[in-house]
Amino acid sequence: MAGFMDSVNKGLATINVKTSNFMEESKFKTAIVTKETEINDLYKAIGEKVYANREAFSFDIVADMVAELEQKYAAIDQLRREIEALSVKEKEILGSQQTQSQAPVDNASKCYCGNCGAPNSVDNKFCEKCGSQLDK
Ligand SMILES: [Zn+2]
Repeated sequence: MAGFMDSVNKGLATINVKTSNFMEESKFKTAIVTKETEINDLYKAIGEKVYANREAFSFDIVADMVAELEQKYAAIDQLRREIEALSVKEKEILGSQQTQSQAPVDNASKCYCGNCGAPNSVDNKFCEKCGSQLDK
């Protein structure tokens, strides 16, 4: 019964990791959409300023807004990195659970039967399962 509860707990931990990551990720994605909307508004405002000052345009007129634009792009980059970090963290947590629950397979000391595909020790001359000669 302990084994069963173990896998239930691992299953729940997996769901918890996935759920909290999903919620975090949604939060970041919403923040990105908000920033993108603000960027679009800025482009519009910059365009209007350029047009209004078309007779005597100088970059100084829009410099503040361009700086703001740069900040918002940087903020989006940061949010994307946060999302990446979440999926790396999720793989770490879920990956370590998998390695705990599975017996380690030492592929280096295995060879596979050409006839039935069964894994055999490299020392075997004949397949443990079907008895075919193992060619190496
Ligand atoms: Zn075999």
